[in-house]
Amino acid sequence: MTDDDLRFETRAIHAGQDPDAPYGSVNVPIYQTSTYAQPEVGAPKVWDYARGGNPTREAFQQALASLEDGERGFAFASGLGAEATLLLTLHPGDHLVLADDVYGGTYRLLSKVLSDWGLRFSTADLRDPAALSAALTPATKLVWIETPSNPLLKIVDIGAVCAIAHEHGARAVVDNTFATPALQRPLALGADAVVHSVTKYIGGHSDLIGGAIVTSDEEWIERLGFLVNAVGAVPGPMDSYLALRGLKTLAVRMRAHCAGARAVAGYLRTHPAVAAVLYPGFDDHPGHDVAARQMQEFGGMVSFRVASAEKAIDVARRTRLFFLAESLGGVESLIEVPGPMTHASVAGSPLEVPADLVRLSVGIEHPDDLIEDLDHALA
Ligand SMILES: *Cc1c(COP(=O)(O)O)cnc(C)c1O
Repeated sequence: MTDDDLRFETRAIHAGQDPDAPYGSVNVPIYQTSTYAQPEVGAPKVWDYARGGNPTREAFQQALASLEDGERGFAFASGLGAEATLLLTLHPGDHLVLADDVYGGTYRLLSKVLSDWGLRFSTADLRDPAALSAALTPATKLVWIETPSNPLLKIVDIGAVCAIAHEHGARAVVDNTFATPALQRPLALGADAVVHSVTKYIGGHSDLIGGAIVTSDEEWIERLGFLVNAVGAVPGPMDSYLALRGLKTLAVRMRAHCAGARAVAGYLRTHPAVAAVLYPGFDDHPGHDVAARQMQEFGGMVSFRVASAEKAIDVARRTRLFFLAESLGGVESLIEVPGPMTHASVAGSPLEVPADLVRLSVGIEHPDDLIEDLDHALA
């Protein structure tokens, strides 16, 4: 039996994680080393220096690649480190199309950093095939998808967008941070690579910053293998260990996040102070049918609108269990107001969000306690 025959929950525990040879340690050890003793000159056992590779990192990479149904995983020091390294596979003059509500840090990396190095990009509503086709140019090498999106929870049809990109001779990447492979596997839907902020659901406990890429594209596997070492945005062994530890419980945590979000969204929808609830699990969410097709469940994120920016700030200050904080995907619930917080850097850009929007990352506490907390804050 190979790992490929095993189911998701089992691969999360076993892929890349055989007990270690000398002692049978059932946990992959934290190989806290910068270099490796070589048996002969110029003949390292596996790696010569730990920027290029580390056994703890390698175990995490293999486990994540298995869960994403990909050939090869690469771990990075942050989600943006992963994205920057992937974008360095492109060349000056190349063009990208980004989802028009892509993660703000991705937009900033392109607009404030890589555009100075000759990468060009435009944004498009990837839910609309005509808008995507109009944005493609002969120089377009990459289409950058994020679904569900942040914080509006728009849903993009991964298979449809990948098909258009491929027809055009471009590759397609999916930022799978919000869904995770427990709910959505973009490579099987046609994507050429998946990127992650491991900081979020994969790490899952708000105790690390990390990123990852998974791909089965031979050219990218080779180039990324080189760039990992040449650029050096790599995670340390301790963070690799925490990421692997998080990955083991991803499936069970996602079930709890999804159930909590469903309950919280349903409650918010009935509240008179709430003007709109954005949650892909609702039948009338514009992306519901696509989400139902390409995701196993609808995720742990819920956004909602109240009457004014002041009310949004007031609610976010008054919850007790939902901590007022940026980030998402941890076991503890978080609340934030994207306009002045996570999305402040995109004010005035096409990515600007409504001022009265509140975003929740629903944790794995008991949903009834979370609902009581919101009820108090909204009163
Ligand atoms: C947080 C996040 C990133 C960036 O990841 P970091 O680990 O913070 O560098 C990228 N994409 C999405 C969707 C995110 O939520």
